Amino acid sequence: MPEIHRRKTVTVKVGNVHVGSDAPVVVQSMTNTDTADVASTIEQVAALAAAGSEMVRVTVNNDEAAQAVPHIVEGLAKRGVNVPIIGDFHYNGHLLLKKYPECARALAKYRINPGNVSVGRKNDDNFRAMIEVAVENQKPVRIGVNWGSLDQALLTRLMDENSKLAEPRDARDVMMEAMCRSALDSAAAAERYGLRHDQVIISGKVSGVRDLIDVYEMLAARCDYPLHLGLTEAGMGMKGIVASTAGLSTLLLKGIGDTIRVSLTPKPGGDRTEEVLTGQQILQSLNIRSFTPQVTACPGCGRTTSTFFQELAQQIQNYLRDSMPAWRAQYPGVEEMKLAVMGCVVNGPGESKHANIGISLPGTFEEPKAPVYVDGRLMTTLRGDTIVADFKKILDEYVKTHYGSTEKAKELVGA
Ligand code: SF4
Repeated sequence: MPEIHRRKTVTVKVGNVHVGSDAPVVVQSMTNTDTADVASTIEQVAALAAAGSEMVRVTVNNDEAAQAVPHIVEGLAKRGVNVPIIGDFHYNGHLLLKKYPECARALAKYRINPGNVSVGRKNDDNFRAMIEVAVENQKPVRIGVNWGSLDQALLTRLMDENSKLAEPRDARDVMMEAMCRSALDSAAAAERYGLRHDQVIISGKVSGVRDLIDVYEMLAARCDYPLHLGLTEAGMGMKGIVASTAGLSTLLLKGIGDTIRVSLTPKPGGDRTEEVLTGQQILQSLNIRSFTPQVTACPGCGRTTSTFFQELAQQIQNYLRDSMPAWRAQYPGVEEMKLAVMGCVVNGPGESKHANIGISLPGTFEEPKAPVYVDGRLMTTLRGDTIVADFKKILDEYVKTHYGSTEKAKELVGA
């Protein structure tokens, strides 16, 4: 498999997590609870962290939210959840960070949107005030530019300059340039105000996939700050997942991106952790990181008369997901395991042989039996009503014998 050459960056420490350079690409997420509601926010952060979010951002939009932050961090620590909490600030961050020093101390990083931090002002006093708090508390900062709240004064200036050129550039190109300039000029200003070079992360979020790729390629070429990738307002369900995957994958394959977030709009009452699992799946599909064993399942076709193999694939996927929290600690490397659940003899045995464990179910008119392959060799043939339970037993045994005997596993289980 061709190697992906990650872009060289400085490494930024966010709480106990490293971002950039050789550190693994970090998956992060954001809560949608009212931050002032301490109990609900703790609950959701804990769920996101349990799903694998390695940093969690919370909005800090008013006095109540700022007052809640230290209690949230403390409550999480009591539950043994030490995921870094990032404060998302807009408009009034300079006031809140100064007024609530405990909030400033408790957060692991501040996200600053340069497009709205000093709105309506001629100087950047508000931005400077936030950076000074970051310096005082030794906290890193993400300069998070978003095209929906781009610095309008900068954009207007660049548009004016462009209109005077003999051959003006396309308005889209000027907007891209404005996003880059806003991020990089703000980062330079932050360093002038005392932040270290290795305390800055940058993002330039847009909602179009092609725009996203262009903005990040420009940013990557012009700086060595770690880049936080994300398609802003990606949308709901399939649209959000596909658009985020298209944009993030293109960049990640070019070695661009040190931390990612998939900004999905959940269905009412939907599960917020979906954005974490999607981010992990993007990285795992690209062979960048492994988080959970992967199941290859065929799509099914006219050769299958029942939905049995789809149900089995789903049951196995759920079983893996439910088992992973315990397996992760007990069986290091299990996240690399590959399974195949196939619908008939056409591709079943072949695909099964490429997996660690594969099962090929009987298609129409095939004899009702399911050969199981382990590490490329036919191990057994299952029959009857207990195929699912028997297959899970084989799976458990494989995990125990292949990932449970290393020194690391013994250490982790205290053997
Ligand atoms: S493996 Fe068999 S059932 Fe599955 S898609 Fe291929 S031909 Fe159809």
